[in-house]
Amino acid sequence: MRGALGGPRLLLRRLREVMAEPVNAQARLDKIVILIAQNMVAEVCSVYVLRADQRLELYATEGLKREAVHLTMMRAGEGLVGLIAESAEPLALSDAQAHPAFSYKPETGEEIYHSFLGVPILRGGNTLGVLVVQNRARRAYSEEEVEALQTTAMLLAEMIASGQLQAFAVSGADIALRRPLSLRGAPISDGVGLGHVVLHEPRVVVKQLVAEDAQAELRRLESGIQAMRDQIDDLIERGDHIGAGEHREVLETVRMFAHDRGWLRRLREAVQTGLTAEAAVERVQNDARAKLQRQTDPYLRERLHDLDDLANRLLHQLTGQGSYADRETMPDNAILVARTMGPAALLEYDRGRLRGLVLEDGGPSSHVAIIARALGIACVGEVANVTDLVEQGDAIIIDGGAGEVQVRPQPDVESAYAEKARLRARRQEQYHNLRDTPAVTRDGVAISLHMNAGLLIDMQHMAETGAASIGLFRTELQFMIASRFPRMIEQYALYKAVLDASLGKPVTFRTLDIGSDKVLPYMAKLEEENPALGWRAIRIGLDRPALLRLQLRAMLRAGGGRDLRIMFPMVATAAEFDAAKQLVEREIAHLRRHHYDLPTKLELGVMVEVPSLLWQLDEICERADFLSVGSNDLMQYVYAIDRDNKRVSNRFDVLSAPALRVLRAIADKADATGTALTLCGEMGGKPIEALALIALGFRGLSMSPSSVGPVKAMILAAPLGETRAFLAARLDEHDGAHSLREDLRAFAEARGIPL
Ligand code: PEP
Ligand code: MG
Repeated sequence: MRGALGGPRLLLRRLREVMAEPVNAQARLDKIVILIAQNMVAEVCSVYVLRADQRLELYATEGLKREAVHLTMMRAGEGLVGLIAESAEPLALSDAQAHPAFSYKPETGEEIYHSFLGVPILRGGNTLGVLVVQNRARRAYSEEEVEALQTTAMLLAEMIASGQLQAFAVSGADIALRRPLSLRGAPISDGVGLGHVVLHEPRVVVKQLVAEDAQAELRRLESGIQAMRDQIDDLIERGDHIGAGEHREVLETVRMFAHDRGWLRRLREAVQTGLTAEAAVERVQNDARAKLQRQTDPYLRERLHDLDDLANRLLHQLTGQGSYADRETMPDNAILVARTMGPAALLEYDRGRLRGLVLEDGGPSSHVAIIARALGIACVGEVANVTDLVEQGDAIIIDGGAGEVQVRPQPDVESAYAEKARLRARRQEQYHNLRDTPAVTRDGVAISLHMNAGLLIDMQHMAETGAASIGLFRTELQFMIASRFPRMIEQYALYKAVLDASLGKPVTFRTLDIGSDKVLPYMAKLEEENPALGWRAIRIGLDRPALLRLQLRAMLRAGGGRDLRIMFPMVATAAEFDAAKQLVEREIAHLRRHHYDLPTKLELGVMVEVPSLLWQLDEICERADFLSVGSNDLMQYVYAIDRDNKRVSNRFDVLSAPALRVLRAIADKADATGTALTLCGEMGGKPIEALALIALGFRGLSMSPSSVGPVKAMILAAPLGETRAFLAARLDEHDGAHSLREDLRAFAEARGIPL
């Protein structure tokens, strides 16, 4: 750079002095533009700030007419400044007026300037404004000058982010960074939470942007990089990272990037311009984010995450700041915001202080989602870019059932949600009051309501809900949140603790249901074309009997001296159930030989979730002590629709004749053969669906704890005989393929049945 006043380093030093002066933000900004103009030998230097209404407002200028400050406005995309804001890329022109995007603003008097250099003011990949220098003469700006201006823009980004400029915003024209946002994601766990943002991985705050001594800074950078590489190598070697939610593949990609020459060169160059090592990391990462965030290619966006991960690791090395939210100083109304999070990490937070969880990546079947549901924490997943859009401490509201997130809400939005939360709490109280009321229909038919569980923490809901039993204990959860295969003794300890906590009520343990969407991070991942139709659940158990036998042993030992119920998932043939029963027999023989206490009563059941069983119902009913319909999977296979694929999962309604006839066939057969029957898929927990199920003949439903109250309230008001006749008539109509949901809803409403 040819700057007569000593180049970028001197500029940065001067700017640092200005930043420290005790003047107001406008005066500081005015001084900054003068300094930049002088240093870059430019006649003009201007700062535009992006407002919430997506307009760019001139906040300070040296060289243009002063009267234009806070008056001149561009829309994003309008003029050269708007173009830079939109593209987040620098723009250098020796003849600005010849550019097609040039837009003339008479109040600024800028027509006399030919050359133009503008850079975006970026933070975390978001554009906060635009910094511009202009020269009267036609001239080319060198790459060094562009770099220097970008570095300077970082200082302005800090000023804007710190909220200093907000004081100068005209009312109704908040700066963009602080604007209210309404975001949408995937509903994961019901509940309305109002609180403040706690970033699970807080951004490293770079306090010192300008270096004292560039050589010393380069040395810091190099040793930081080395330390970070060693740390990654170490993690990969030790292999104990998985518990923290980190996968080997991710770490290996990050390690590869840590040796990328281009990245290292850019870091060194940024330090040469006078930045501290940490500011250089932020600068380089800002550029990468601005470029990659605009990509729609999922592969490239994934690489952005890897680069973020890398930059964060290096920043933590350089600044010594902790990687995770400080759990001690968390507010009482914390809403955690994370890109992704391992299930174990969520369990480490104080449940009492959490009002919600927002995830950028995690979908409804992610492990952390399972834990959030178990803990009853409102949760929304798949919220694009959320970690970039919020700041630590921002006011935030989450509605887990609707999949909505409101960031920095306006007062009217806030009071609407507060009202919703109050209503919900009142309803919860009503359900709670029903806890000891038996679930009996208006015409006197008893329905038993059971609860689904998978973790020891779920057991507390047993007393809260008054559930009749644990109708489905998903044993795979222990496996999914562990960092290696749980040993037999650990499985035994869990099952025993669950039985001890079950208040003397039965627990139906389901054997390991892994594969498909339920991945164990420590198990070699199989490349299967169709994992949902692949090697999963009992198929793995029968092919790897050692695994299943150890689990059965753990269950049988835990159930010693009491009643025990075990069921098998994804059974497709009666022969598979026979094979599973044989393994149980072998384990019983083993325990008997070793003089262990055996269960006083053992019942073995089959999950009905593979359609082939529909044509083996006689054989299955003859063999099984009980059946439990896994409607989530059964419907997935009946309709050939991936249960987690949003594009197709709403295509058919389970309340239409084909699905209901399938369920009726199972209920009829169970009734005719006297086989105990429940249903434990999500259907059972939705009042309108549960109404249809009891009308079809189901007398036992197992559901998530939060559904017990609403389903019971429905049952208490339902005239079963009338509902049964109503539904039977609809199902026997010939064009019964359409959804009966609206008919059923109208039926319920007319009779005051709460849905
Ligand atoms: C089901 O498939 O309905 C079921 C209860 O099992 P999971 O959801 O665990 O697959
Ligand atoms: Mg299933």
